[in-house]
Amino acid sequence: MNTIGHFIGGKTVAGTSGRFSDVYEPMTGEVQAKVTLASKAELRAAVENAKAAQPAWGATNPQRRARVMMKFLDLLNKEYDSLAELLAREHGKTIPDAKGDIQRGLEVVEFACGIPHLMKGEYTEGAGPSIDVYSMRQPLGVVAGITPFNFPAMIPLWKCAPAIACGNAFILKPSERDPSVPMRIAELFLEAGLPAGILNVVNGDKEAVDAILDDPDIKAVGFVGSSPIAEYIYGRAASTGKRVQCFGGAKNHMIIMPDADMDQAVDALIGAGYGSAGERCMAVSVAVPVGKATADRLMDKLIPRVEGLKIGPSTDLTADYGPLVSKAHLEKVKDYIDLGVREGAKLAVDGRGFTMQGYENGFYLGGCLFDDVTPDMRIYKEEIFGPVLSVVRAKDYAEALRLPTEHEYGNGVAIFTRDGDAARDFAARVEVGMVGINVPIPVPIAYYTFGGWKRSGFGDLNQHGPDSIRFYTKTKTVTSRWPSGVKEGAEFSIPTMG
Ligand code: NAD
Repeated sequence: MNTIGHFIGGKTVAGTSGRFSDVYEPMTGEVQAKVTLASKAELRAAVENAKAAQPAWGATNPQRRARVMMKFLDLLNKEYDSLAELLAREHGKTIPDAKGDIQRGLEVVEFACGIPHLMKGEYTEGAGPSIDVYSMRQPLGVVAGITPFNFPAMIPLWKCAPAIACGNAFILKPSERDPSVPMRIAELFLEAGLPAGILNVVNGDKEAVDAILDDPDIKAVGFVGSSPIAEYIYGRAASTGKRVQCFGGAKNHMIIMPDADMDQAVDALIGAGYGSAGERCMAVSVAVPVGKATADRLMDKLIPRVEGLKIGPSTDLTADYGPLVSKAHLEKVKDYIDLGVREGAKLAVDGRGFTMQGYENGFYLGGCLFDDVTPDMRIYKEEIFGPVLSVVRAKDYAEALRLPTEHEYGNGVAIFTRDGDAARDFAARVEVGMVGINVPIPVPIAYYTFGGWKRSGFGDLNQHGPDSIRFYTKTKTVTSRWPSGVKEGAEFSIPTMG
């Protein structure tokens, strides 16, 4: 049995805590490895290593840091196929989808290659008499990222690439459910020329996380995962004086206006609702057709498409989606479907009975579709994170706008329409962080920023794009005057430049 340790100080090290967690192969249901769960002392050792390595890396000029990013990109591209397979086998998503996971992370590495430009400060000559003012961005020191299971390449890269490019040392605590790709990322960074100790991967569970939150030498924590944990991390890390950004769960709505191209809308719903077995924070989990006629047309087209979904093992290149990540998660999703039935929603397609021939122990679930879901139901309020789409029928546009706006989550939302006026009004008024207009999964490109509102995001700076540079650097502003020989005497009121 393969045992996965940690990556500390530029090498793989075995764990010493004596605690382990099983890593499954979801498509077969078998345990394929054990991952070590770090103790507080092991986390501390990684921080010591990072702290010793960081000053020299922070003082390395940004162009040289960018070159490491470029070389790393090269290596990522060379390893694309093997990384995708490794990812798919631990997570469960299909190999083509795993490639998308890597690609979205890689694009943030491309963004980080621009670090010489991104870290430039500001300068004002003559801000006052003989006074020049300039600001500079400096790395924070040692920073940490705690990431979820569902994007084991993309989210670690969203966190570590900008942080490292800014001159920080990074402690990554990936999900204990699929730790192998993060470990491989650390090895590739080393091969690309990143000094030992700048990127450390500490595998673990709550014990390692709490050690990060309480460590006095970790200056910032970036988290992605479920909202209750996000909220916990936000509070605890902030109380020890760290910068914190925490991204949480989601319930993403897709509004279908009466004038929408229905075939296009159905394609979008099928892909965004069921791709990756619905285990995406930007998955569409609620469809909102506007008006009865729209809803009826939608259901007519949607039902056969959900019934026809092709579920397969992660290595089946023709499958629409693969297994869920674990048995426990599969059971949780099934419980939600039972709950929906008890709550009175109409289960138009029931995938609970699905088994995958030849892979009977894998964590598979057929596509499920609920109609007549109402906002008071728990299946509407809570994140299910599975291949389950709920249809909430809205009587008009005003109600359709109100649903995502009033939902406690506010990650992504989409509107499908041919009416520019409706789309523009929707984008301006909806209380959600990322909006798609005829785009079902509006994950912004790398040089914009990613972040949800309300209980989908805690903290004020988003991931990647310009916000990531602000998050991982501190600004120093210098007001300077070189002696000109003019002596004006002491000044006791607040200086102004007037
Ligand atoms: P999770 O909250 O269970 O775990 C996330 C991380 O927190 C993991 O590294 C885990 O080890 C750690 N953790 C878990 N329980 C903990 C505890 N009690 N104390 C301290 N640390 C703990 O999330 P998950 O199941 O891995 O990922 C799925 C969730 O992530 C979904 O809710 C999804 O919407 C969300 N997500 C959000 C975004 C976003 O950008 N908003 C992106 C991807 C996933």
